[in-house]
Amino acid sequence: MFDAIAAALTRWSHQALPLRCLVCQAPGSNGLDLCAACHAALPWNGTACRLCALPLPEGEASPHCGLCQHEPPRAAAAAAVFRYAAPVDQLLVRFKFHQDLAAGRLLSQLMLQQVPAFVTGPLAPVPLHRQRLRSRGYDQALELTRPLARALRQPVWHGLYRDRLTDAQSRLDAEARRCNLRDAFDVTAPPPARLTVVDDVMTTGATLDAAVHALQRAGLVDVAVWVCARVP
Ligand SMILES: [Zn+2]
Ligand SMILES: [Zn+2]
Repeated sequence: MFDAIAAALTRWSHQALPLRCLVCQAPGSNGLDLCAACHAALPWNGTACRLCALPLPEGEASPHCGLCQHEPPRAAAAAAVFRYAAPVDQLLVRFKFHQDLAAGRLLSQLMLQQVPAFVTGPLAPVPLHRQRLRSRGYDQALELTRPLARALRQPVWHGLYRDRLTDAQSRLDAEARRCNLRDAFDVTAPPPARLTVVDDVMTTGATLDAAVHALQRAGLVDVAVWVCARVP
């Protein structure tokens, strides 16, 4: 009920208010709360590792980064629409920590401009632990995923569950991140035959790898990862 009212209000406010660039306040363009100049300056993640979405130098011959050649991640493919750089980084921070759902809506719309070819089945947001969900009031990965799924006519799969409240990943190095996340996720329903896991930011990939591991323990083989931004 409240969801329906909130959706109607969002629709109404979106129709009633003129589009405005969330980065520089100039009038928006192309149906987005983003002006043409800011759109032209977005940090698209053009050449990147196909397994972990790490940005690679332009013209790089190998499709995979050195890390993945040495030790491939569990997901069969990964794509990040942007590199984690201005102005996408500020939009993500506003969305994640400052209740700026308009920034989240814009980021979803931009993700839809670069849909990876592997997205052909249900989408599964990386879940927040319920304690974080209570303090934040919304789950940013779910807020990103819903409009993506709607536009792509795919279902949202809710079977991924966060078992353990983990320490904030940003304070930890790569090895500590992996330990921190061991068994952090569980699966509450049989996964579909193929799935794309969606998150806002991929830093080392440890969180997504732990989520993919939980899905593979539950029998899912064909799983890929799609994020808004990749930290280089
Ligand atoms: Zn602008
Ligand atoms: Zn890689």
